[in-house]
Amino acid sequence: MTIVVQKFGGSSLADLERLGRVAELVVRTRRAGHDVVVVVSAMGKTTDGLLALGRDAARLPGSEAPPEPPRRELDMLVSTGERVSMALLSIAIRARGGDAVSLTGSQSGIITNDRHFDAKIIEVRPFRVEDELARGRIVIVAGYQGMSYRREITTLGRGGSDTTAVALAAALGAERCEIYSDVDGVYTADPRSVPDAAHLPELDCDTMQEMAEAGAKVLNARAVEWAKKSGVVIAARRSADFADGASGLETRVLAAAQAGARAVVGDRKLALLRSSGDTTALLAAAADANVPLRDVTLDGAGLTASISLLNAPDLRHFCELARRTGPFSLEAGMGQVSLVGVGVGNEPATIAAARRALPEAPSWFTSSPLRVSAFLPEGAVPDAERAWHAAFVGTTR
Ligand code: ADP
Ligand code: ASP
Ligand code: MG
Repeated sequence: MTIVVQKFGGSSLADLERLGRVAELVVRTRRAGHDVVVVVSAMGKTTDGLLALGRDAARLPGSEAPPEPPRRELDMLVSTGERVSMALLSIAIRARGGDAVSLTGSQSGIITNDRHFDAKIIEVRPFRVEDELARGRIVIVAGYQGMSYRREITTLGRGGSDTTAVALAAALGAERCEIYSDVDGVYTADPRSVPDAAHLPELDCDTMQEMAEAGAKVLNARAVEWAKKSGVVIAARRSADFADGASGLETRVLAAAQAGARAVVGDRKLALLRSSGDTTALLAAAADANVPLRDVTLDGAGLTASISLLNAPDLRHFCELARRTGPFSLEAGMGQVSLVGVGVGNEPATIAAARRALPEAPSWFTSSPLRVSAFLPEGAVPDAERAWHAAFVGTTR
């Protein structure tokens, strides 16, 4: 029997009605003769709500500065979101006559490093999942969470349920991992900001990973990295299309590379870091505070880098350490637009045209073989996405 891993994101599980449709889809897949492993995210915007609650708890009257909740406790808090989903889906499947069992990340053998809130999966030991499949059960796994070697509960960074799904698919020897969300695959840009973005039926892993790292949240970058390493094919689909036995479009993320500009990605919630102090000490401070830096550039003037605030809940600690390394500035409210594709950053003509297509001078401009990026105030990102899409992707499809 072939193993199918199906992952359902927060929007597919936003309420009980949608969760019921997911239960139906899962039971149908099982009855078609597959072994089914389901990975779930927290319902709707639950993770955001839990994080807000955690921050409020740290700021209650009588709290002492600095009021940042500890990352370990944030992991304990947010990992409950996926537990709720897994139990409810299991109940709904059983109510339809299916035989399901829900398992947490640690029960499923998702072993991570000990970097709380942004942990990396080191190893998957899916013995319990395999035992339950051998009993004929549908196994529901809580995404986004794991357990460190010190037996601490960890979470995998925002959007990390995709990574749970692909890593499990690889460990179980599944050929395919279906990732269901509210969009029917990957487009040449986020259809929410670029209405004439085109659907991509196929896309190579390198381009998709770069898009995800640049902020396209349709798939998680580490999930794509696992797919590339293990040969698992990701199929990105819209859950609503596949309800009641119907089907729809999908994007298949494959290993074979495709050259040229494929997509434009907008990212928000970034901070631009500049330092003219001791840059080596500043890099050490970022490592100490677990703050991931992107596009680090060192030159005569010092260091420039960007920080995605999504997976960095405690910048206050980083700022305290950074202050000891000399003058630095951290500009929040920034965004980034990126043109992604194998080889795009190697073409001076593309870089020049990208610069010309922007209405205003960006704060910073970077290029690498797979990406050209401009840093802008957050509010300028949607216009820049549309401008680059029209200039590079819209016309070539
Ligand atoms: P889930 O909660 O199911 O994991 P996400 O919200 O993480 O789903 O991802 C789906 C969203 O990704 C879509 O609603 C869409 O707005 C956004 N998105 C960003 N870039 C793209 C793109 N290039 N193609 C498709 N969707 C994209
Ligand atoms: N629930 C988590 C988040 O909102 C993980 C995920 O959705 O993949 O980031
Ligand atoms: Mg997601």
